[in-house]
Amino acid sequence: MELPKMMQAMVFEEIGKPLALKEMPLPEPTAYQVLVKVIACGICRTDLHIIDGELNQPKLPLIPGHEILGQVVLIGEQVSGIEPGDIVGIPWLGYTCGKCKYCKSGKENLCENAEFTGYTIDGGYAQYTIAHYQYCFQLPVNYTGPEAAPLLCAGLIGYPSYRMANNHAQNIGLYGFGAAAHIIIQIAIHERKKVLRLHAREIPQASNSHSGSVLPGRAGPIRSFPKNRTPLLFLRPPENSFQKHCMIPIKAVMLSAEESI
Ligand SMILES: [Zn+2]
Ligand SMILES: [Zn+2]
Repeated sequence: MELPKMMQAMVFEEIGKPLALKEMPLPEPTAYQVLVKVIACGICRTDLHIIDGELNQPKLPLIPGHEILGQVVLIGEQVSGIEPGDIVGIPWLGYTCGKCKYCKSGKENLCENAEFTGYTIDGGYAQYTIAHYQYCFQLPVNYTGPEAAPLLCAGLIGYPSYRMANNHAQNIGLYGFGAAAHIIIQIAIHERKKVLRLHAREIPQASNSHSGSVLPGRAGPIRSFPKNRTPLLFLRPPENSFQKHCMIPIKAVMLSAEESI
């Protein structure tokens, strides 16, 4: 495939300024990276946190975007298992060290030395992007439409939470209704669950974080919650800030019918 030398990209240069359309050189993949032609890149709330300066350590200038769907067009010489032509998804987590306490305990989403797509490394608001091959998801060829892009962040957050709930649970409460819940509710309805959207005021002692989720340990007993509306599913934010907004250590808070009354 003949590749262009230049590409167009939307570039974040300064807080308070709109993204700028720029002509940029096509990025060159290193030995462990793939070059991907972007099909679509979703917009996440975290992108807005970055552009508004609330996540204040971005690479600058930066190409934001971390819900990337694309087709591999070139691979580095050490890349294995991914070939040109493959459809891949590129998420927020762009690299982890493999050495810190979190990486060693299977929680690489909290890696102390992580790199983040569209934050510390360039993302997908461009015609092409590069990514470490071990941080790409190979996707089935039927995922070539833009509707697949939000799965790369909102879907990654929501689905593990949903799967932590008991498979037999018929009544699911979703609190913090954003992109993740928007995807999960479709799965839940497909699986014939009864779904209830919850507001903070319906959860005694709950506290809103900026990302709209329940802070760990704050939910407390849900005494007023109807017996037939359990379990609850909470999307839990990180313990400190939005720094790892998309790397939420997912924890489903399950309440049996007995516990909820
Ligand atoms: Zn995100
Ligand atoms: Zn690490």
